[in-house]
Amino acid sequence: MLEKTLVIIKPDGVKRGLVGEIIKRYEQKQLVIKSIKIVNADYTLLREHYYEHIGKSYFNELLNYMMSGPLIAIIWEGENAIKLARYINGDTNIEKAMPGTIRGDFASNTTYNLVHASDSAESAERELKLWFPEL
Ligand code: ADP
Ligand code: MG
Repeated sequence: MLEKTLVIIKPDGVKRGLVGEIIKRYEQKQLVIKSIKIVNADYTLLREHYYEHIGKSYFNELLNYMMSGPLIAIIWEGENAIKLARYINGDTNIEKAMPGTIRGDFASNTTYNLVHASDSAESAERELKLWFPEL
């Protein structure tokens, strides 16, 4: 099924100069960029984005990390784009993130893990509206 999903290249991806490398991974799997922008995300936006994690031990660190510099928000479109982007990203638990995935190849910490991708059709719809309200 042709789907759209939201991917974020988190601030460490931008700071480490991995934007091109990361974008290439999705393009290699034939996802197509529909929209892309650089954002300095504020607390309100990030709290809304990560509302499921409010109260978790890592929540404050996660939001500070996401506010630590510009990030890149991307809408990718393709066959099974939602699941595919998550496979390309790799497991959330850094010890399980396999080589060949973005996290497996470049991240070494479960919080500072370079990328976000929507985890379901409902999340994708919600997150696309949140990050691209102008569309
Ligand atoms: P994903 O980004 O793979 O969808 P989650 O939605 O579970 O993962 O978590 C959102 C983000 O919160 C993760 O990408 C990571 O940056 C951070 N995070 C999640 N779980 C942990 C944890 N146990 N310890 C530290 N940081 C975490
Ligand atoms: Mg998630």
